[in-house]
Amino acid sequence: MSKVCAIFGGSRGIGVAVAQLLAQRGYFLAIIARNLDLAQTTAKSLGGDHLAFSCDVSKEDSIQTTFKEIEKSLGPVNYLVNAAGVNRDGLLLRTKTDDMISQLHTNLLGTMLTCKAAVKSMIQQQGGAIVNIGSIVGLKGNSGQSIYSASKAGLVGFSRSLAKEVAKKNIRVNVVAPGFIHTDMTAHLKEEQLKRAIPLGRFGEPQEVAKAVAFLLETPYVTGHVLVVDGGLQLLI
Ligand code: NAP
Repeated sequence: MSKVCAIFGGSRGIGVAVAQLLAQRGYFLAIIARNLDLAQTTAKSLGGDHLAFSCDVSKEDSIQTTFKEIEKSLGPVNYLVNAAGVNRDGLLLRTKTDDMISQLHTNLLGTMLTCKAAVKSMIQQQGGAIVNIGSIVGLKGNSGQSIYSASKAGLVGFSRSLAKEVAKKNIRVNVVAPGFIHTDMTAHLKEEQLKRAIPLGRFGEPQEVAKAVAFLLETPYVTGHVLVVDGGLQLLI
């Protein structure tokens, strides 16, 4: 069976690192993001026959169209990585409802919908594997990130429930929960100050998260797991 992997959020940050590692391991990749130019640049940089697609995961029709296009050009999806995500940090009382909705739609509903589309295809192929990118903030909580945290905590409940639902169909669903990783999402943070609180004393690299994603995609006896990649942040009270 060919290894066709859809990477939502594959144009930047953690998604690019996942794409680079999976390309080396012989997967055929669909690199997906809203910005098609950037997704194409990433797909081309990988060499091989990888393709780029434009999709907004907060829109169901966009996801359905994208899965049809991928199937037509690369074949049915049997691996899925959900790395598309946004954060709009701020105290709850100052958070606009639109910003709440955009985080929940992109981070949580978007993942539910891509999983729904992928599972349909995986059942027909009698197997598959999904990795959803959560966050340590979804497990521990963080002041100023209540909505983001809720979206990522929801992802854990969703992924573990789906893992139970589809295990008999030979489909596995796991979560990687990163801490602070060097990407556009964390570029505005005060790294010098924050890294003092991390037991390993530094931010992580996207490539370190990618290794955890590949492990979960490729380890056939692991499902419903949340793999934390956070330099030890979870050890703190
Ligand atoms: P990033 O560098 O900002 O990249 C985000 C990716 O998601 C981009 O490819 C972006 O492309 C895509 N995206 C955003 N909204 C989208 C939408 N509505 N539809 C489709 N694609 C969308 O972020 P990152 O740091 O790599 O984060 C990847 C994932 O890891 C996210 O889920 C994030 O919450 C999670 N995470 C990150 C960290 C960290 O420290 N960096 C820590 C914990 C968890 P377009 O903008 O072109 O759509």
